[in-house]
Amino acid sequence: MIYEYQLRLLPQYAANEATIKESIAREKGIDSRTITHVRVLKRSIDARQRNVFVNLKVRTYVNEEPCDDEYEHTEYQDVSGAKPVVVVGAGPGGLFAALRLIELGLRPVVIERGKNVRDRKKDIALITKTHKVDPESNYCFGEGGAGAYSDGKLFTRSKKRGNTRKILNVFCQHGASTDILADAHPHIGTDKLPRVIENMRNTIIRCGGEVHFQTKMTSFIIENEIVKGIIAEDLTAGTEKEFVGPVILATGHSARDVYRYLYDKSIEIEAKALAVGVRLEHPAHVIDCIQYHNKAGRGRWLPAAEYSFVTQVDGRGVYSFCMCPGGFVIPAATGPGQIVVNGMSPSNRGSRWSNSGMVVEVHPEDVSDKPDALCMLRFQEELERSCWQQGNMRQTAPAQRMVDFTRSRLSYDLPQSSYAPGLISSPLHFWLPSFVAKRLQKAFETFGKTSHGFLTNEAVLIAVETRTSSPVRILRDASSLQHIRVQGLFPCGEGAGYAGGIVSAGVDGERCAEAVSVFYFNRQADK
Ligand SMILES: Cc1cc2nc3c(=O)[nH]c(=O)nc-3n(C[C@H](O)[C@H](O)[C@H](O)COP(=O)(O)OP(=O)(O)OC[C@H]3O[C@@H](n4cnc5c(N)ncnc54)[C@H](O)[C@@H]3O)c2cc1C
Repeated sequence: MIYEYQLRLLPQYAANEATIKESIAREKGIDSRTITHVRVLKRSIDARQRNVFVNLKVRTYVNEEPCDDEYEHTEYQDVSGAKPVVVVGAGPGGLFAALRLIELGLRPVVIERGKNVRDRKKDIALITKTHKVDPESNYCFGEGGAGAYSDGKLFTRSKKRGNTRKILNVFCQHGASTDILADAHPHIGTDKLPRVIENMRNTIIRCGGEVHFQTKMTSFIIENEIVKGIIAEDLTAGTEKEFVGPVILATGHSARDVYRYLYDKSIEIEAKALAVGVRLEHPAHVIDCIQYHNKAGRGRWLPAAEYSFVTQVDGRGVYSFCMCPGGFVIPAATGPGQIVVNGMSPSNRGSRWSNSGMVVEVHPEDVSDKPDALCMLRFQEELERSCWQQGNMRQTAPAQRMVDFTRSRLSYDLPQSSYAPGLISSPLHFWLPSFVAKRLQKAFETFGKTSHGFLTNEAVLIAVETRTSSPVRILRDASSLQHIRVQGLFPCGEGAGYAGGIVSAGVDGERCAEAVSVFYFNRQADK
């Protein structure tokens, strides 16, 4: 027999299959020896009260073995002889577009400026060692895109636009733990993501698709306002290559050369609001004590605690972003002369620190009297350059203790931090744009009142967080998903302004692949 139960257990009883089986046997009066298997379908932590509980929905197999799969398989067919589609960018947008194209019987040709996910890791390590950023291989560029070395959070609020569940299932099919299907706030972890990404690439190649690393798109081939393909530079040989087919452009929020190319070619784009601020890092223990209402912290059975804050200050949202419990603050610049910080965590979220972006919403009219399409991009660049100057022209990030920042005083010293290139004490309250600094100061006071112990000098602000989303939107038609004027061009994912995370970029990638399939079908019908 198979039963589904809702359980509310203390963390030690929700810890593993054996303790869950015992709890079911006890609560439901079943002989535990007859429970052959349990499958957790949903898992969330309820930390609203002093006693923390884990809520579970569990499928219980009594006297029988499970015969259903843990996740839904997708069939990928051989597309070696099929029509090509050029996919620029191997981030989640591009990879999920490529896999969906295969499902639909089209042949993806993936073009990626960065290196494969393993070789990329070496360049990332060099940023800390040498303070030099390779403009083609870094935390944002390379196989897996910006999300490859991240927390791998797979939680998205944008469920309206597509099948987020499918994205999680495809990750499972390529090696992610099936826990991501059950957890309320699923994440994969930076240590597990590269293997999953490699498996996705292997599926693309096994089915007859192509993946070209260290190959950078430099221009489109356009005839009569229709994109026929791209011209790309082979970065190892220094030669040019042509790739033919409709183009899914999934180049992410940091491909500034792509935005400038579109702007110069008068391919319609517009400035987009984004959020900027700092990474805020606490000792993980401080956050655990606050969130689990326990001076002892999280204890043995609970994971590093998460938090989420949001408020309005002077007409703009101020909020925590991309929280990484038990994680690290990392240098996420994409070129020389910039400091950009971001966060990532390993799958066990086991570091001594917990960090999040603390950011203020910024609109084009906040930064320019006459906003043009690139005004937000220039604003990001200026902020990152100032930060680099404040950081002594190295990846040493300017930082300030949290209470010192709210009181506008320089920090005499700084706490230990996970940010490997090192910190330098700096008056962030003074040199961050005042419309950002003042709002952050007020918001921290508010968060400190609602969450006792959160506003503390044990926490440190690390500058500057600028790459929260795209500074530009590439304008596309809502139904055909093609650019509003140039046909055969499908702006995709976060860089185009239609996604804000791994899952939503994946969803948008799938949608663009479907739109290309319709485009091919319509052209066939026209002939
Ligand atoms: C450190 C970090 C941590 C993050 N953590 C999370 C998280 O936990 N959860 C979450 O949901 N989101 C997270 N994000 C955001 C998430 O990674 C992005 O939203 C997502 O990767 C966007 O996907 P994308 O495919 O649209 O673009 P990207 O992932 O940015 O991929 C774009 C790809 O295009 C390539 N490219 C650019 N220009 C060219 C060109 N001219 N020719 C060829 N290739 C090109 C780039 O090298 C890159 O690989 C994080 C981001 C960072 C940087």
